Amino acid sequence: WSADTIAVVTGANRGIGFEIARQLAMHGLTVILTSRDAAVGKEAAKVLQEEGLNVLVHQLDIVDLSSVKLFTEWLRQHYGGADILVNNAGVNFNVGEDNCVEFAEDVIRTNYFGTKNVIQAMIPLMRPSTLGARIVNVSSRLGRLNGRRNRIGDLTLRHHLEDVNSLSEEIIDRTLATFLAQVKDGSWTAGGWPQTYTDYSMSKLAVNAYTRLMAKMLSRRPEGQKIYINYYCPGWVKTAMTGWAGHTSPEEGADTGVWLALLPDQLVTGNFFAERREAGL
Ligand code: NDP
Repeated sequence: WSADTIAVVTGANRGIGFEIARQLAMHGLTVILTSRDAAVGKEAAKVLQEEGLNVLVHQLDIVDLSSVKLFTEWLRQHYGGADILVNNAGVNFNVGEDNCVEFAEDVIRTNYFGTKNVIQAMIPLMRPSTLGARIVNVSSRLGRLNGRRNRIGDLTLRHHLEDVNSLSEEIIDRTLATFLAQVKDGSWTAGGWPQTYTDYSMSKLAVNAYTRLMAKMLSRRPEGQKIYINYYCPGWVKTAMTGWAGHTSPEEGADTGVWLALLPDQLVTGNFFAERREAGL
């Protein structure tokens, strides 16, 4: 890895994303720190630049298609693309034991559709290399299909989401549409959805399924044009999202993401990781 390696990190103005940007830059890469608020992003980038790190900044709101377009056009013009993309931007409105679905639409729009917007716009911009380009999605254990506590009740649906051969973007989107319709008409509590952090869990479950689907599609690319895509859980991290109530620091939360982005060989794709280990579905 060198300063010629370009890494893009979304939602990098604070929290885990900021630490991912810092750690990637500490490995000598050129990092493009993106933030939905341009001024806030500039301030965050300044902190890293003052540490002597090679960090650039650009506005990117992942749910705003015109922002995604402006960003990717700028990236193409200045760098011809990127080698690493870390989809970190996300929202959550649940606090503690309170299972709040009031913002379910926003949560799903940002965490799933926003992430998908960026992946779709960036795939043509991932630069060919012998090492393979990498996409890392910052997800969550709460989105696991077979987690002990927080899984969806419909076994057939779970099977469809689990089996990458029967999985499709349409199934993922339809599942979310059904969930959101039930939130709207108030019937969601009987819908068999995850029991805690329901909307957030659904958004991450969708990200996870989409990652596996994309991994399958991207693995068909010819040698030299490969893109490896994986997802990971950073743990319960002390950031604004958890009201700083987590167990681990943003530095630790960033670690597995940076490790995945920089894996030297034996590249895996479509897998879920936690603490630098594969963690199943
Ligand atoms: P923070 O709330 O500290 O950071 C979230 C970041 O995402 C902020 O930079 C925020 O920008 C940005 N963001 C939100 N919406 C958008 C958008 N539409 N476009 C661009 N950026 C956006 O949370 P964390 O650092 O904790 O979370 C980072 C990731 O880690 C998330 O995907 C989260 O789901 C995941 N995660 C976190 C866990 C934890 O324990 N903290 C556990 C498991 C997963 P702004 O500052 O403008 O709001």
